[in-house]
Amino acid sequence: CAVGHSLVEHATPEAVLAAAQHAPELGPPRLPAARHDGGYALLRDAALTPSVMLARLEAAGLRGLGGAGFPAARKWRLVQSQPGPRHLVVNADEGEPGTFKDRFCLEADPHRVLEGMLLAARAIGAEACWFYLRDEYAHLHGAVAQEIAALDAAGLLPMPVHLRRGAGAYICGEETALLESLEGRRGYPRHKPPFPGERGLFGQPTLIHNVETLWWLPEILGTPEGAARFAAAGRRGRSGQRLFSVSGRVRNPGVKAAPAGITAQELIEEFCGGMAEGHRFAAYLPGGASGGILPASMADQPLDFGTLEQYGCFVGSGAVIVLSDRDDLPEAARNLVRFFRDESCGQCTPCRVGTAKAARLLEAQRWDAPLLQELAAAMADGSICGLGQAAMNPVRSLLRFFPQATP
Ligand code: SF4
Repeated sequence: CAVGHSLVEHATPEAVLAAAQHAPELGPPRLPAARHDGGYALLRDAALTPSVMLARLEAAGLRGLGGAGFPAARKWRLVQSQPGPRHLVVNADEGEPGTFKDRFCLEADPHRVLEGMLLAARAIGAEACWFYLRDEYAHLHGAVAQEIAALDAAGLLPMPVHLRRGAGAYICGEETALLESLEGRRGYPRHKPPFPGERGLFGQPTLIHNVETLWWLPEILGTPEGAARFAAAGRRGRSGQRLFSVSGRVRNPGVKAAPAGITAQELIEEFCGGMAEGHRFAAYLPGGASGGILPASMADQPLDFGTLEQYGCFVGSGAVIVLSDRDDLPEAARNLVRFFRDESCGQCTPCRVGTAKAARLLEAQRWDAPLLQELAAAMADGSICGLGQAAMNPVRSLLRFFPQATP
């Protein structure tokens, strides 16, 4: 999407209802075709023990692709080390502006995700799986429910799988807010530690994976070669591949399966057909609304975890939004901060008051840079969760990299 209103448009209840009414008719279950193509065969492989799976996951170097990038094998190890009962939670509450790759996974091949879910559940000895699906993906609710029911009817579910709908709150994509929501409470993020791997859903050890993380699991866990192939796909010493949601002023936006460690310049040229007609590359958001804004002159930086942090930015869920010389950068920052103001859950003061104050300060004819920096530091230091901590990243990066463009 362009950087205007579409970047942060909210789905009203009416819009969700309208989307549901226009959802495509459900076709027949896709399970038979998935099984015909080899899907779920891994679940019958007795040699695929939790320790074999863990070794392959480690060899692949897969990291959590919902945004945090925590090594998946370390999460598994933590949950495995805790006394049961344990849970597996699928985070399908994709709400980061500019991110749409989880929707792509579920539309393209829901069984690849569901098989990944069951493999991860087996690895940690989960007693139940919980699939938390974004409410705005109205067209997917029926489809995912249908495929889970087909799995159940085919006797392929070794444990109960519960499908739950979100209710449109961006914050419920934050893993601990998601757990609160699953437990039937308001989606307030929890303090960490304890981490969900120790004390998660209903106070029990819980492995939470994003949809895309599960998407890669069947390929990685199936054979040692699969794990090695995945690991070797990265560039610049990084492991693996990932799905980037590329939007904005490129010729061919969309979901791109690209090597970890690729740069924005390479992503635009090799995967998106270059810039759109009449647009000159000016800036990019490497990680959706909260990952900051970088100038085109820094498009040679690897888009990977632990790299962009030195510039106060991050790649997060891989939502790359490309801006051109025709885009209004201060307006983009205002728009993003208004989004965070609206989506703040209100639990803690630095974020609740800070986002509202920042949105007001950014309306001024001239920005008060020292005051904005001070506010940003207080919010980063004092907020409970990532929303408040990162809400000022767009403003901070504009002040740092585009001082001539700020009012
Ligand atoms: Fe809620 Fe914001 Fe505090 Fe997170 S940082 S807990 S979203 S008020």
